[in-house]
Amino acid sequence: MKLYAPSTIKEIKDRYGFRLSKSLGQNFLTDKNIIDKIIAATEITDEDLVIEIGPGIGVLTYEAAQRAKQVTAIEIDKNLIPILEDTLHDFDNVDIVNQDVLKTDLNRIIDDSGCRSAKIIGNLPYYITTPIIMAILESGVHADSITIMMQKEVADRIKSQPGSKVYGALSVAVQYYCTVQTVAVVPKEVFFPVPKVDSAVLRLDIRKDKPVELIDERMFFRCIKAGFGQRRKTLSNSLMGIGDVTKEEVKDCLSHAGIDEKRRAETLSLDEFASLANYFSKRE
Ligand code: SAM
Repeated sequence: MKLYAPSTIKEIKDRYGFRLSKSLGQNFLTDKNIIDKIIAATEITDEDLVIEIGPGIGVLTYEAAQRAKQVTAIEIDKNLIPILEDTLHDFDNVDIVNQDVLKTDLNRIIDDSGCRSAKIIGNLPYYITTPIIMAILESGVHADSITIMMQKEVADRIKSQPGSKVYGALSVAVQYYCTVQTVAVVPKEVFFPVPKVDSAVLRLDIRKDKPVELIDERMFFRCIKAGFGQRRKTLSNSLMGIGDVTKEEVKDCLSHAGIDEKRRAETLSLDEFASLANYFSKRE
């Protein structure tokens, strides 16, 4: 059965009385080429655990299950569970978990699996793409990579470099935790129903070693948050937002880090944010 065919999705809807939920971001993939690209880019081996976020009716799950040792698919919509049990009944290596991924301890699933390595995949619901990515990265996830489809505009923000209009806190944070590769840019017409925007697939490889040395990671993120929180302001003003700091101290740290106080956060590289944060940390 071609799970990805629009006719199959319609048939499943009729058979189960299933109604697609807009609020859960249910836009299902209907293009085998894109499915193949996501699966190929994930480089699944028969020793891997694959965690899938939001399996829908199981188009990616079905392919992952043929390659991985174990697949855990986390789906929030209870109405999709009987459908997934049906579409994936050929496999004894798939666990379907009816849960909100944001309330799921992925490290526990990974550690309990006994698999040599873990890879995360998903065609993410647009409404919570950024919270999902940040929650996974901030948890210090024990996975090698995250290969995920998202709104193209979010992918552009994640990949962007200093000086770009869309460079921001998300770019610095994701690039701190991961290296980023574009797998595919995906037109909106390959989803059912067709969403309003195009998508892109990124592969994020979790860095084993961080790209910068930090005295205090929290200070690094405070600087990023303050800098981009008021991105139109010059750094000597926006960095007052880190709290508990005088203007003199801000200017002093910028000067020690060799950063002109008139610059704005959107021009700062990851290295510069790190150096600045370390001067703020030394001050405390
Ligand atoms: N993987 C399927 C595909 O590519 O056709 C479905 C992708 S659809 C864009 C997103 C899926 O994520 C939906 O099945 C939706 O119910 C599920 N979902 C939405 N929010 C979720 C959450 N917080 N936790 C887990 N799954 C979620």
